[in-house]
Amino acid sequence: MTDLSPVSGPPTAGAQPVPPAAFHIMLKPRGAICNLDCKYCYFLSKEMLYPGSRFRMADDLLEAYTRQYIEAQRVPEVTFAWQGGEPTLMGLDFFKRAIEYQRKYCKPGMRVFNALQTNGTTLDAEWCRFLHDNDFLIGLSLDGPRELHDTYRVDKGGKPTFERVMAAARLMQQHQVEFNILTTVHAANAGHPIEVYRFLRDEVKTRFVQFIPIVERANDTGFQEGDQVTKRSVTGRQYGDFLIAIFDEWVRHDVGRVYVQIFDVALAAWLGQRPGLCIFDETCGQALAMEHNGDVYSCDHFVEPRHKLGNIVDIPLIEMVSSPQQWRFGQAKRDSLPRYCRECEVRFVCNGGCPKDRIRYTPEGEPGLNYLCEGFRAFFNHIDPAMKFMAAELRARRPPANIMRHLAQQDAELQRRFATARRNDPCPCGSGRKFKQCHGRG
Ligand code: SF4
Ligand code: SF4
Repeated sequence: MTDLSPVSGPPTAGAQPVPPAAFHIMLKPRGAICNLDCKYCYFLSKEMLYPGSRFRMADDLLEAYTRQYIEAQRVPEVTFAWQGGEPTLMGLDFFKRAIEYQRKYCKPGMRVFNALQTNGTTLDAEWCRFLHDNDFLIGLSLDGPRELHDTYRVDKGGKPTFERVMAAARLMQQHQVEFNILTTVHAANAGHPIEVYRFLRDEVKTRFVQFIPIVERANDTGFQEGDQVTKRSVTGRQYGDFLIAIFDEWVRHDVGRVYVQIFDVALAAWLGQRPGLCIFDETCGQALAMEHNGDVYSCDHFVEPRHKLGNIVDIPLIEMVSSPQQWRFGQAKRDSLPRYCRECEVRFVCNGGCPKDRIRYTPEGEPGLNYLCEGFRAFFNHIDPAMKFMAAELRARRPPANIMRHLAQQDAELQRRFATARRNDPCPCGSGRKFKQCHGRG
């Protein structure tokens, strides 16, 4: 899923499509090549798309891409997003050249940023100095404490990687490299939300976290096909419970101190703004992917032949981005939404989630329901009162962190009422059950 800026217009009938003002491309300079062998990684199977390839972006392609990408943007800030596989396997010199090309083609007044997703295991002091000096924002993949992280995140020899990732986090802190943590939520860590969250907050000492659900298709193609998922995948219910538990901790202690992407995105939606994350946007199509050889695809999650738009050597990037094919891809996210979603009370924030996960049927039997629906619905309903409170504070130009004092008072009042409740009274928590069957149990 991708952070988004506001953007494009529809192709005009029979005329040239309207180019978007801004768009994002996930760059994969080494294709799917990685030094690790994480068991749930959907990128690894993409090697099959390019048999015999060396999987290295050539210098002239890097330069052509840099020029085209910058030229096509009509906003004052652009971000180069480096993905993999493991992009650092290109080596430091490649990234030094990337910065040179960015400086060469940067428009007057334009600011250029770089974001790089890494497993961290190749980083050393020289890398960190470079990343710091060039203001890279790093996304470090870490799935929680040692035993939870090492369940699936192993190297080619099946060895655990936790120590190496933690060493990378410490090194980046020493060199003041800005990084956030990307934690995937899967069958192994989904049952340990508080343990994961406190570990990231208190031991890694990160202030920026993303929780990405693993919904891994069980098929032989590696494409988004079929409706079965692997046992490593998180279920909708688990994902919802995971987010709810962390939200309840965060909203009492960490508002304004720890940034959890999905909470921030939700608050934007409660403020009536666009969510800023493609999976929760009404339409998508402005977050594309480019392979090591210049092939451009509609989305990083759809690097497969039917979603290939062309190659930047043959077709200018801007033409592919504003092509009718790409437009249809983005609009289909909204147009294929089942009635169940269209009538859902949290559609304004969920919008049916990412099309890649819409592999279930609604209770009425309509296809296209998100595999994670149960979790999304439970989570967004759970956070509704707190989100309304924080949105009201922001509208009144007060800090949303006031929610913490508000909840502390509410919790204290509840404790007082628990202390005076009799066994057969309705439980003060509002569950509808008797006190003795709820908070007064035992
Ligand atoms: S398919 Fe759309 S919503 Fe899903 S990750 Fe791609 S751009 Fe985002
Ligand atoms: S919560 Fe479920 S029903 Fe509601 S919009 Fe999201 S996927 Fe659709």
